[in-house]
Amino acid sequence: MQKAKLALKTSSPSNTIVRLSDRITIGGPDLLIVGGPCSVESQAQMEAVASRLVLAPVQALRGGVYKPRTSPYDFQGLGLDGLKILQAVRDRSGLPMITEVMAISQIQDIVTYADVLQVGSRNMQNFDLLKALGKIEKPVLLKRGLAATIEEFVMAAEYILSHGNPNVILCERGIRSFDPYTRNVLDLGAVVALKQITHLPVLVDPSHAAGKRELVADLARAAIACGADGVMVECHPEPEQSVSDARQALSLDEMVNLAHSLGAIATAVGRTLPQPLIDPIINLGAGSVPQLSLA
Ligand code: PEP
Ligand code: MN
Repeated sequence: MQKAKLALKTSSPSNTIVRLSDRITIGGPDLLIVGGPCSVESQAQMEAVASRLVLAPVQALRGGVYKPRTSPYDFQGLGLDGLKILQAVRDRSGLPMITEVMAISQIQDIVTYADVLQVGSRNMQNFDLLKALGKIEKPVLLKRGLAATIEEFVMAAEYILSHGNPNVILCERGIRSFDPYTRNVLDLGAVVALKQITHLPVLVDPSHAAGKRELVADLARAAIACGADGVMVECHPEPEQSVSDARQALSLDEMVNLAHSLGAIATAVGRTLPQPLIDPIINLGAGSVPQLSLA
């Protein structure tokens, strides 16, 4: 880690707290639980996700509108229309929105409509993109490259920090290995190491690591147990129908159950799981299933 400076605890001994919205942060005592689909597919889909998760201990939503697909023939994302959906659902639910940026040309629109810009694994070493993200103020969620060492990961964060943006969140999402049983190998050793050597918040994405929904909840709990500042989990109102990453998507019920189960682990490791804030923008409706007001 010889060349890293700004990302290391030696340059800033206290942990960085990154603010996603006026009331949601990551890096302090509160955990950050993020849920949402791999891809934004429609406004109805995102409203279904938000109306369920806003009442769980889930503090932010995710949804890709610019999708880095292995095949050019697969769904590439809704683009600007998807960003407008994220903004509309954010304004109704109060939940900040995380979405992926793939190119410098997308930064301005994403800054306008969303709250956190995700750099996907495939772009962790797109240095021009990292430099451009150093010029904005909104938080950047930097995912670890498919086969990046911990040092390369920290140096990628260093690009953003050294160009002026201190709001960097690291995300461990699994690294490639030899065994196709899981999509990737979740490197919890890296989570512990990153918490020891850097002052940046560390989020864990067990969904892209596992690639199979039945592995996701236990990996999420393990991540919180070993010191992660939060988890980001893919979920969908109809998991089997997801246009991307269907095999790893939790149902909304499974997501809510997972979020609740993190409370005891949070307490055991000296963290807090923020409870949902029921405020006037949420209309609980007459039925037993709370819904957002969509008026
Ligand atoms: C995603 O978050 O949907 C995604 C594409 O993740 P990753 O870059 O980790 O593969
Ligand atoms: Mn995905």
